[in-house]
Amino acid sequence: MTLAERIAGLIAREGPLGVDRFMDLCLNDPVGGYYATRPDLGPGGDFITAPLVSQMFGEVLGLWAVEVWTSLGRPGRFVLVEAGPGLGVMMTDALRAARVAPAFLAACDLWLVESSPPLRRRQAAALRSLAAPSWVDRLEDAPDDAPIILLANEFLDCLPIRQAVRTAMGWRERRIAAGPDGALVFVPGPAITPSAATPADAPLGTVAEWSDAVADFGSAVGRRIVSCGGAALFIDYGRDRPDYGDTLQAVRRHRKESPLASPGAADLTAHVDFPAFLSAAHAAGAAVSAIRGQGEFLADLGIGFRADALARAHPDQAPLIARQLARLTAADQMGNLFKVATVTAPGLAAPGFHLS
Ligand code: SAH
Repeated sequence: MTLAERIAGLIAREGPLGVDRFMDLCLNDPVGGYYATRPDLGPGGDFITAPLVSQMFGEVLGLWAVEVWTSLGRPGRFVLVEAGPGLGVMMTDALRAARVAPAFLAACDLWLVESSPPLRRRQAAALRSLAAPSWVDRLEDAPDDAPIILLANEFLDCLPIRQAVRTAMGWRERRIAAGPDGALVFVPGPAITPSAATPADAPLGTVAEWSDAVADFGSAVGRRIVSCGGAALFIDYGRDRPDYGDTLQAVRRHRKESPLASPGAADLTAHVDFPAFLSAAHAAGAAVSAIRGQGEFLADLGIGFRADALARAHPDQAPLIARQLARLTAADQMGNLFKVATVTAPGLAAPGFHLS
């Protein structure tokens, strides 16, 4: 039975599904979920991410981690975590760049938060010559006896969201049902009490989104950083201020399609609500940064110098390197759409951010 058929059965038995339940099934169902069974990242696959655009991305993040470790007083042991490492490319590039600081590498205990069995295998293969990582399903399961440095690129956008829509009968949670022809459709579900995020006077048709999973992850990061010390860096596409709109999207073979079209066959993501994520971390006692664009953040970390050095070493590839740099940093490419923010122990300034 396909995942679509099982979802239809579930709806017939239990009624329309919440967007969060649908997203979780589409991504993580052990038999039919996209990440659990057939993740296909890269130019020849379904979608591309910053580490796959250029090695420079992971390299500058590796140097960011070395600087954080230096600010922490160069601890003799720390826990380096990547959440959602995909093909393992970013961590490979980061650790290679971190060879400038052998004491950092010697102190590093590497843990990968990854739910996908096929991607765990890809990460093991990618990292083989550089590190011996351990894997956990949840951040809470990584060791908590040392400071933590955490990196996550395009991880929060995979965490399930919920949606509400403003109808003539007030705000309703958005649910997914089967239409007369069996195709999945969005329907208004139970009433939602108006709040700041769902104001009674919003225009008809307005869609609001929120994510318990993103907030829970924010609190888990905040708690860990408060108890162990350290810093966490999050890069994702998303909003830097509260906003409305339906951002649930499916991408397959580099094309957007309806999120309901082919459950489990496409990547399903939503824009990350950075303010909500950071406020959960802040409520747990951690310091949180401003939210910056990826372009200016990478520029401040010196990605331009790295591009110049690479181009000098490989003059034949200079035009390609310039295109990759532009893709990562230009305002009309990934530079503005993608946002960066940190969660840190109070008093610790992370590179690229001022103490707040
Ligand atoms: N960071 C990588 C991959 C992004 S794709 C890159 O930039 O290329 C999202 C990654 O998060 C995948 O590795 C996916 O398997 C993982 N992931 C998604 N949801 C997860 C969850 N709930 N728990 C753990 N890992 C998850």
